[in-house]
Amino acid sequence: MSRFLKKSIWIFHLNTGSCNACDIEILDVLTPFFDAERFGVKLVVSPRHADAILMTGPVTIESLPKVVNAIEAVPRPRILIAMGSCGVGGGIWHDTYSTIGGVRELLKILEKRGIVVDHVYYIPGCPIRPEAIIYAIGLIKGLVKKKAKMKVKTAE
Ligand code: SF4
Repeated sequence: MSRFLKKSIWIFHLNTGSCNACDIEILDVLTPFFDAERFGVKLVVSPRHADAILMTGPVTIESLPKVVNAIEAVPRPRILIAMGSCGVGGGIWHDTYSTIGGVRELLKILEKRGIVVDHVYYIPGCPIRPEAIIYAIGLIKGLVKKKAKMKVKTAE
C-alpha cells in the first residue's frame, strides 16, 4: 500500500443507487462515537481530491455515466471501496432491469474504457456495520491483518 495512505485517506462518498441505509452507517462512523477521523479519514466534496471512492448501492443504469466520471476523476493510485451487499455484488438488485449489478460489473466497464482501478476493497453487509467500515480502514492503512483469504478449489 502507498506510503501516503498510512497518513490519511481522503474519501469521496458515491451513492450509485443505494437505499440509503449503508450511507447512514458511513455518517455513523464519522460521529464522535466511532470517530473515523482519528485514523485520518476525511470526506471530501470532489473526487479530484480523493484517494478513495466509497461506493454504496448497486450501480443503476441512470447513475452509470456519473459514476464512471467520478472514478476517472480520482488521481492514481485509485482505490475503490465497495460497500454493502449491493456495492459488492448488486444485492437483491443484481439482475434487475435498472442496474448493471455491483462493483464487478462496474470494473468490467471501467476496464473497457481504459480506466484503471489500482485497489478494490469489499465490505459486505446489509446494511454494513460501522465496525466493518472501521476494520476496512485499518486494513487499507495496514493497521490490521486480513482475517479471510481466498481459497481456490481445483477440479479433481
Ligand atoms: S446493502 Fe442493504 S442497506 Fe446497503 S444499499 Fe443495499 S439494500 Fe441498502
